[in-house]
Amino acid sequence: MKILETVKNCKRIGITGHKNPDGDCAGACCGLALFLRKAMPGVQTDIYLEPLPEALFENIPGAETILNEIPAGTEQYDAFIILDSIPERTGFAEPLFESAALKVNIDHHKTNPGHGDVSYVDGNASSTCEMVYDVIDSEMVDRKIAQALYVGIVTDTGVFQYSNTRESTMRLAGNLISYGFDFTSVIREVFFERTYMQAKMLGISLARAERMMDGACLFCSLDNGTITRYGATRQDFEGVSAQMLLTEGVDCAVFIHETKPGEWRASMRSGNIVDVARSASLFGGGGHTRAAGCTIYAGTGTEFAEAAKILLADIAAQLEADKDKDLKG
Ligand code: 5GP
Ligand code: MN
Repeated sequence: MKILETVKNCKRIGITGHKNPDGDCAGACCGLALFLRKAMPGVQTDIYLEPLPEALFENIPGAETILNEIPAGTEQYDAFIILDSIPERTGFAEPLFESAALKVNIDHHKTNPGHGDVSYVDGNASSTCEMVYDVIDSEMVDRKIAQALYVGIVTDTGVFQYSNTRESTMRLAGNLISYGFDFTSVIREVFFERTYMQAKMLGISLARAERMMDGACLFCSLDNGTITRYGATRQDFEGVSAQMLLTEGVDCAVFIHETKPGEWRASMRSGNIVDVARSASLFGGGGHTRAAGCTIYAGTGTEFAEAAKILLADIAAQLEADKDKDLKG
């Protein structure tokens, strides 16, 4: 698929990603918008996303043009593109997708069946940014576009450490850094650096994490009371499950925090065995084999404990099935 072919004749194009935008979602939206504004200068191209964390805002060129709400009087778009998401997870901009003349969906989540008139889903792509590079015309890539896409690749591959990193991912990243942006500081600020509150919440989460399933699963849950006591918000827990997975012997890390009373966000990571997207789908969530999430609606106490039991039982069953596989050789 080539995006210029898909949106030719369009005069107004809108782009969005998912709620709580991460580096891949925001990098893909901005990278694609910068390309379209350059390749189709007479066309109005707008980006709609929730406000970005500061590290992303500072490191993704084009982020300053993001709209955080729909301006009054906004008309229907000729084309509306959802990146790195399914329509249900887009949030405030979803009506613009629904009313658009042409609906486009580009995503690397294997649980996305594809939505709209034109969809391009590749569960093997490291990131949506890698897919955006495929659909744009490479001769028009410049330093800003390269940096925006690089942020997404770095985010979703964990700086090229996760198994979604392919040879082509590395080649593309090499090509992108040839445009000359300061990739050292991009990687540090986007991936490794934590805000003070993030560092604090990581410490609390790790201290509370418990081993289960003979140490193959590490589990932590934080209720809303604990979180509000510290004044933490959802973004302050970014990266916790990935850090939990770095514990020796752990194949599956489950971090759940109560974002508001009765609503829990589960973030899961796995090493080699557990398909966490399968476990997340039990609660209507999804994602990738090795990184997935879902929202659980349950009251604190036994209601939450029951829900967590269902999630953990699926993980235990997957670990058990793998053990059987080993025994059978
Ligand atoms: P995280 O744990 O970082 O929040 O999410 C891990 C991965 O799973 C991300 O790629 C994210 O987009 C996906 N994901 C997280 N929560 C959900 C969800 O509720 N539904 C779907 N379909 N995907 C999710
Ligand atoms: Mn992504």
